[in-house]
Amino acid sequence: MRYLIVCLGAAMLLTACGNETSNEKKNMDTGADARFDAYKERFVEELWRTHPGWASSVGYHKYDSVLLAPTPAERDKEIAFCNRHLDSLKQFDKNALSDNNKTDRLMIQNQLESSIWSVNEERSYEWNPSGYNVAERFAEILNGTYDSLDTRLHNIGIKLAAVPAYYEAAKQNIKNPTKEHTALAIEQNEGGTSVLETDLPAALEKSKLPAEEKSMIAERAKAAVAAMRGYAAWLKGMKNDSPRDFRLGKALYLKKFNYDIQSGYSVDQVYDKAMKRKQYLHSKMAELASQLWSKYMGTAAKPADSLVMIKQVIDKISLQHVSADSFQASIEKQIPVLTAFVKEKNLIYLDPSKPLVVRKEPDYMAGVAGASINAPGPYDKNGNTYYNVGSLAGWDKARAESYLREYNNYTLQILNIHEAIPGHYAQLVYSNQSPSIIKAILGNGAMVEGWAVYTELMMLENGYGNNAPEMWLMYYKWNLRSTCNTILDYDVHVNGISKEQAIHLLVNEAFQQQSEAEGKWRRVTLTQVQLCSYFTGFTEIYDLREELKAKMGSKFNLKEFHEKFLSYGSAPVKYIREMMLKEIK
Ligand code: ZN
Ligand code: ZN
Repeated sequence: MRYLIVCLGAAMLLTACGNETSNEKKNMDTGADARFDAYKERFVEELWRTHPGWASSVGYHKYDSVLLAPTPAERDKEIAFCNRHLDSLKQFDKNALSDNNKTDRLMIQNQLESSIWSVNEERSYEWNPSGYNVAERFAEILNGTYDSLDTRLHNIGIKLAAVPAYYEAAKQNIKNPTKEHTALAIEQNEGGTSVLETDLPAALEKSKLPAEEKSMIAERAKAAVAAMRGYAAWLKGMKNDSPRDFRLGKALYLKKFNYDIQSGYSVDQVYDKAMKRKQYLHSKMAELASQLWSKYMGTAAKPADSLVMIKQVIDKISLQHVSADSFQASIEKQIPVLTAFVKEKNLIYLDPSKPLVVRKEPDYMAGVAGASINAPGPYDKNGNTYYNVGSLAGWDKARAESYLREYNNYTLQILNIHEAIPGHYAQLVYSNQSPSIIKAILGNGAMVEGWAVYTELMMLENGYGNNAPEMWLMYYKWNLRSTCNTILDYDVHVNGISKEQAIHLLVNEAFQQQSEAEGKWRRVTLTQVQLCSYFTGFTEIYDLREELKAKMGSKFNLKEFHEKFLSYGSAPVKYIREMMLKEIK
């Protein structure tokens, strides 16, 4: 029922655009939509049964006690599940479905095809030992607040019994792993034991479970810890004379890009756009740095190399930053300023009944410096949305200073636009109003990150920061980061560039600190394609806006564009584009 109501709401917006025929069509086809809605419920329930760990992580706790061993039999079951549902999807004529269900159908199909591809071709279960780690699954249940401690501990007790078999199956899977993923697996499995050795015993102390059960859980925890350590030791001692290159290679990369990003552009098009964007940003930055030179550098001679000149001006501007102990307070103060600007300039409606709570990051997240948005999952829609701000307490002076320069007075504002208003936080509020559990679970990362990156530029275009050259220069530097993320990912995984070449790109062409560049290198050795999501989504959204502007002329309205765009939920931009283009016809 819920789906239907929202579906009609979308139809009413359609009428406002003068599209009567598709409105009528919608009403006629509610039969197909009702059938598809029922199917989606079955699909999701089965998805969770097949992936109990994923289920727990999104707040669906029916399978908390289950830990499946990654055996060939489990992979066969996974493939059978995917094929069965690909078959079921064929029963639904996509033209008979509402736009919402049409995109849900495509997203389910993509998920299923991607899983099959991953098992049969990507085969990371063979070369990525860090795919095996139970620590986080136990930590999530242990730190959860959704159920009583005793219930959660009871489930943990059952789950713990499966840990030794889980690692045995993992060892059977591994063949020629990459050195990088092997090192990560050792580090994470050794580090992860504290959940079971420290946090779990502390929780057992507080528990009212019968003494027998408690001691059984403690025993199983010991065996689980031994299995984790045993796995790490096995990896350390493994003979691996011809480790696989962590670089994915072109064939796999192209497919992974298609499944994970679901862009309307090909990889080559995106790479080409990123290279052009880098050039554009450099030329804009050179103009601004030249203009700001005497203000910041006095009578010093301007370096002939424009990249060197840009870097010197950026370094000077970065000295304007808040102090370590006012970091969180500065962020808190900025949220109402951003909200007021968005309202004054009519950029997008922000629901005042859904305030954003800024908080110090909770202890169990500590160590993840910086800022992040913590959104309620699809099964806890009314939960608070938190803006977690890492504390710099306990950092040594040099590290804190470098961090504060990175998040200087200008960049900190761009970060807040990205994470909060009107970036991730605003998008989340809209996506929670979108009726689709599918989009909540299979949400498209390129759309989500692309939106946040797009809003940075959009705010500045509308005069945020009073068009100060410093603000634009720091924005361009920030945008260069996501642009170069894409270039880096492709150059490393497909073109095979070396670490030295990668660091050169990040430090000399994207003006990053050595430590940031080293961190990014580590990330690109451990992930594939994900670094492309920011720039790809940004470019697609920006291009869509410009396309609609050109087509609609004086009828184009920026606020309506933003609200309409977000109303489809976290769907791939190419699908949103199709629907928006259809509507203006
Ligand atoms: Zn300083
Ligand atoms: Zn983001």
